[in-house]
Amino acid sequence: MKTFAYFDSTHEFPEEIIIASQMNPYKILGKADFSTELADQYIPPFICANARSFLNQAIEESSNWEGIAIAHGCDATNRQFDIWDQHVKTQFLYYIHNPLKTDGIAQRFFIREIKAMITALESHFNIKISLDQLENAIQVSNQIKILLQNLSKLRLTKDISNTEYFDVLKFTVQNPKEKVIPYLESISMDWLSRNPFPINKFPIFLTGSDITHSLWFDLLEKVNLRVVRDDLSIGERYYATLIPTDEDSISNIVNYYLNIPRSSTKHPITPRINYIMNACKTEKIAGVVSQIIKFCETFAYDAPFLKIQLEAIHMPVIHLEREFTENIDQQISTRLEAFVELLEQNQN
Ligand code: SF4
Repeated sequence: MKTFAYFDSTHEFPEEIIIASQMNPYKILGKADFSTELADQYIPPFICANARSFLNQAIEESSNWEGIAIAHGCDATNRQFDIWDQHVKTQFLYYIHNPLKTDGIAQRFFIREIKAMITALESHFNIKISLDQLENAIQVSNQIKILLQNLSKLRLTKDISNTEYFDVLKFTVQNPKEKVIPYLESISMDWLSRNPFPINKFPIFLTGSDITHSLWFDLLEKVNLRVVRDDLSIGERYYATLIPTDEDSISNIVNYYLNIPRSSTKHPITPRINYIMNACKTEKIAGVVSQIIKFCETFAYDAPFLKIQLEAIHMPVIHLEREFTENIDQQISTRLEAFVELLEQNQN
């Protein structure tokens, strides 16, 4: 199956359109080696390294993809379309808006955007994307989200490492959906047979900038912090809600993307805060790790308000700014160890 790549700074790109067009939607997450050198020629170093690593991968690998779409995301990356247009070799580069708001005007606007993208794909690839195909794509997407929801719940009761969870999500957003479903079913069998949640680990909620490499999940694991809930795009934001099926396919897709757990790229902040607070109140969460990658202003703006809200319910919280590096950051590791000591004191 042909691969169609997309770049969204959180979870904004309606990948169901690509599934319906019989291509594999592939979320660009940068290469395993953290490379940004090629992109650094065009994007200054005070822009987050996530975005630079995505461009770097696209410059190197775009010949493997039938086309690329960029979805309206954070302010830092919205303006990078022209850079991609200039420096990434591809036959088809498309920008799709995803509105900031969720009201009726935003809804109608997004419907128009999706129809325009369908028309552009049909014209370029000489295909027809029917409403039935969109309906089937929604069913596939929902099947995957249900499997992920069930896997996610096991994090609270079973011994499933942070890295294993991240690897499952990464596989899901980068591989053909017909491979993803049996893969998730086999992971489910495995995780169900796992030992109970380890007594030496602290269950935490993880929030902030998207994490694109497993290294940071591993760092949390090493200090005995186990991510049992999150609101990341390569995480719960991707599967927490299902695509509705009560209206026509395009309206259903629009309603889904306007109502998923919100990121800091969308306003207002309240739905995002409520999602985190609700998880902290209903699950056995020992603390919250809020982290941003350096220069991610989007999530940095929200962090102080989030911290105040969590402290008001006496939920321990740590906020960290991390580098984009393949090496363990010892300073952050030390701060996390101190946070774990605080959680231990709370436990006693
Ligand atoms: S990490 Fe932050 S600044 Fe970078 S792409 Fe994501 S939201 Fe934008």
